[in-house]
Amino acid sequence: MKEAQYRIRAHHGMCLAFFKGKGYSNEFSIHMGDMKEKLEKNPIVSIIGNTDIICKACPNNERGTCITAEKVAEYDRQVLLRCNLSEGDVMHYLDFAKLVNDNILLPEKREEICGDCCWNELCH
Ligand code: SF4
Ligand code: SF4
Repeated sequence: MKEAQYRIRAHHGMCLAFFKGKGYSNEFSIHMGDMKEKLEKNPIVSIIGNTDIICKACPNNERGTCITAEKVAEYDRQVLLRCNLSEGDVMHYLDFAKLVNDNILLPEKREEICGDCCWNELCH
């Protein structure tokens, strides 16, 4: 497989599925919308458990580290576990999105992972 075009943190596979234009800031929402469009063209991505291309425009990203790093790292860990993935796995984005959908979203497990997120009410 070719080199990954984007690094995507695992739990963003859930956030992207529910994204409808709302986010931490206007700049962040525009960037997230752009990324969603790019990812839907099915590039090769590397699944990570750290700051990624989406975090890049987030006001909660302080010099490369999320201000809720511990909380979101656990979301990432749960997504990797439930999708039977390891950090650093490389695949087409839509294959990753399908794993998240089949293993977490369809069986309605999302809230078990990130029910304490401030966007919880929007992600249904
Ligand atoms: S509740 Fe938060 S972490 Fe969970 S999918 Fe929505 S935005 Fe992402
Ligand atoms: S910096 Fe934190 S809050 Fe912002 S997108 Fe990344 S994981 Fe989410």
